[in-house]
Amino acid sequence: MAALVELRDVVKHFPVSRSLGEIVRGRHPAVHALDGVSLDIGSGDAIAIVGESGCGKTTLGRLMLKLTEPTTGTIAFDGAALGEMKGEELRGFRREAQLVFQNPFDALNPRFTIYRAVAEPLLNAGIDKAEHADRVASAFRRVHLPDLERYLDRYPHQLSGGQLQRVVLARALVLTPRFLVADEPVSMLDVSVRAGILALMREVREAMGLTAVYISHDLALVRYLCERTVVMYLGTVVEDGPTSEIVRNPRHPYTRALVAAVPVPDADQSHAPLPITGTVPDAREPPSGCRFRDRCPHAFERCSTEAPMLLSTANGHRVACHLK
Ligand code: SF4
Repeated sequence: MAALVELRDVVKHFPVSRSLGEIVRGRHPAVHALDGVSLDIGSGDAIAIVGESGCGKTTLGRLMLKLTEPTTGTIAFDGAALGEMKGEELRGFRREAQLVFQNPFDALNPRFTIYRAVAEPLLNAGIDKAEHADRVASAFRRVHLPDLERYLDRYPHQLSGGQLQRVVLARALVLTPRFLVADEPVSMLDVSVRAGILALMREVREAMGLTAVYISHDLALVRYLCERTVVMYLGTVVEDGPTSEIVRNPRHPYTRALVAAVPVPDADQSHAPLPITGTVPDAREPPSGCRFRDRCPHAFERCSTEAPMLLSTANGHRVACHLK
């Protein structure tokens, strides 16, 4: 099946202000948020993008939604290049591709009633006002807030975190999109309501046939939502494959550390946990060769001079490591 979203050699660098020494030396420092990411996301797929803070996963999500532009490389949605979209084609894309924000407390305008917040995308998309009430009610039913009357005139501060995240999801669904990017959708919520929101997101995705990307630092959280997982480290993809394979048989040392760091009941526990030391290096000056080498327990000479390519292995896996 053709991919709904295609990324080819996507690079995103954010220029940072230069010091006097850098000006003198003619250097133009930049944060290397992404360096050469290529991915295909099939229609109806659910993909997790995982990695520590600073790995580039949020930037990747924003690029897929055209909320920022790549420095180089191309991104296409349903065969159309995002970089060339404008006018009606761009408006159509904006209707079809939606973001679920990380923090429901910040995602909604505190001065808008709940009804106005959910109806706003319809207004922006030029949908006839006569249709708004029905469409908002339908979105509320989808997220199991059927009693619309109860919420119509309330304000965000009057709702619980779980209710708010359902409202945020309703707002993302009100235009019946095809593509959803959820950036850490439950990280700001109380632990007691997280499972309910994740189950709801899965139910909604399946019922609507949505293509979804879940961005998370927590592999344990997304493994129930996604058939496929992409692991990122310092702006690059280090492993990509079926989630069950990634959890049971992680191939990259970084993924093995991620798997070992969370309780994964049915994972193959025959491999010893591989705790890694240190933190993600400065993205303004990523290490030469393999970007993980400073923290990798298996690093050898070649790792400091040659960046490993993301190559296919068995069972639909792709891994970027000289040892695979
Ligand atoms: Fe470790 Fe080298 Fe593999 Fe990188 S390429 S993960 S440093 S063994």
